Amino acid sequence: MNSRSACRSVVVVVVVWLGCFCQESWSRGPEDLEQNAAVQRFRSYLRIPTVQPEPDYGPAIAFLLGQAQEVGLAARVLEFVAKKPLLVMTWKGSSQQKLPSVILNSHMDVVPVEEEKWIYPPFAAHMDEDGNIFARGSQDMKVVGMMYLEAIRLLKARGWAPVRDLHVLWVPDEEIGGNDGWGKFAESQEFADLNAGIVLDEGHISYNQTYIVDYGEKAMWWLVIQAFGGTGHGSIYFDNSASENLFKSIASINAFRESQMNLVKAGIKPLEEVVVVNSVFLKSGSPTPDGFTMNIQPSVVEAGFDVRVPPVAEMGAFMNKRIAEEWAPKSRNMSYYFTVKTETKNGDVPVTIADDSNPWWTLLKKAVSKFNSTLSPEIANGASDSRFARMQGVSALGITAIQDVPFLIHSDNEFGVTISGGSGTEVHGLCHERL
Ligand SMILES: [Zn+2]
Repeated sequence: MNSRSACRSVVVVVVVWLGCFCQESWSRGPEDLEQNAAVQRFRSYLRIPTVQPEPDYGPAIAFLLGQAQEVGLAARVLEFVAKKPLLVMTWKGSSQQKLPSVILNSHMDVVPVEEEKWIYPPFAAHMDEDGNIFARGSQDMKVVGMMYLEAIRLLKARGWAPVRDLHVLWVPDEEIGGNDGWGKFAESQEFADLNAGIVLDEGHISYNQTYIVDYGEKAMWWLVIQAFGGTGHGSIYFDNSASENLFKSIASINAFRESQMNLVKAGIKPLEEVVVVNSVFLKSGSPTPDGFTMNIQPSVVEAGFDVRVPPVAEMGAFMNKRIAEEWAPKSRNMSYYFTVKTETKNGDVPVTIADDSNPWWTLLKKAVSKFNSTLSPEIANGASDSRFARMQGVSALGITAIQDVPFLIHSDNEFGVTISGGSGTEVHGLCHERL
C-alpha cells in the first residue's frame, strides 16, 4: 500500500471521527442539544425501529439516502436477499491510481427489546436532563454509523478531500449472524470492485483513555451431538444404550470445559484465548401428557452446546478432531452436526494483525494518540461482520469510539451521549463519550 496517502486518508478520517462532536456547544446543556443538528439526526435514526427478528429496512434506507444526499455522497442500494438491502455511500478519492479503499461499516439492525423494562420507550430516543439519549441502537451501533457521517460532514465543511475512495456501508442482519448481509456481500463482485484495504467496524465500550480494538473474534460453533441405541425396559441393564453413550461424551466435554475454565481462573490465559463450551439443551425421553415414560430407555438422546473457538493456530482443526473422535465418535453410535458454524480458513479463524507491522494499525494508533489515548488489541468473544472481511484477506478492526459510559450493548435502557459539563477536561472527555 502507499502508506503516505493512506496516512492522509485514515488519520484525518479517524481523528475527525473521534473529534467531530468535540465542540464548545456540547458542554452547555440539554436545551442547546435539543437544537443541535447532529443530535437531531442521531435521534431521527434511532427512532426507526429496525428491530430483529423482522426489521423493516425500508424507512432506514430512505432516511440514510436522504443523509447521503445532504452530505454529498454517492449512494447505491444492493440487495442480495429480498428485503435485506445494503447501502454503499461513496466519497471518491482524488488519486488516479487504484489505491485500496477505506470502508466504514455499521449494521442497521438492532436486537429486540423487552419494552416493559425500559424507563423510556426504546424507539423514542428520549433525551433526559443529563443529555443521555435512551434508545436501542444508541450504543450498538447506530451511534457509530452516525459518527461516520458527522465526521464526513465536518471534513467536507473544512474542504478536505480523500486521496483514496472512502465507502460508508450500512448493512442488514448483523444481529442474526450477517449471512444475508455482509456474508453475501463479501462474496460478491461489488465487494471485490471496492478494492478494500481496511474495514473499520464495531467494537467494545472503552475506559480510561484506552480504546479497545477487536482484531479477531472467536468462531461460533453451535454443536448438537446425538447418541443412538436400542430401546430397552427401564428395569434391565444392557451395553451401549443411547443415554450411556451420551453421558460418556458429556463427561468428556465437562472435563475439557473445566480444564479451559481453570486456565482462566488461575490467570494463565484470558477468556479470549480459551475454548468456551457451554451446555444449552438436553433432549430425550418419551413424553406423556404429564411428564415422561419412566420405564423405557430412550433410543435417541441429544445435547446442544454453544462452543466458541479462539483464533489460535490450528485450534479449529484440533476442535474438529476432538468432536469427531471424543465427543461424538462413530464407535459409540454417535453423530453430530452444527446449526451454526462460522467460517474458518484451513481450520483457523483469520485475524487482523494488530501491531506496527500493519500500517493501518499504526495509523489508527497515531489518530487516537491525538486524544491522549492508546489502543488495546483484543479478541472479541462475540461475533461481528468483521469476520467476513477477514475471510477475504482484508484487514478489519472493530472500534466503537465511546469511552467511560456504562456498557449497555443488548441491555435494557441502552443509552448514548452523556453530558458532563464545564471544565476543559470534561469537554475533552465528551469527545470520547460522544463517539
Ligand atoms: Zn452490533
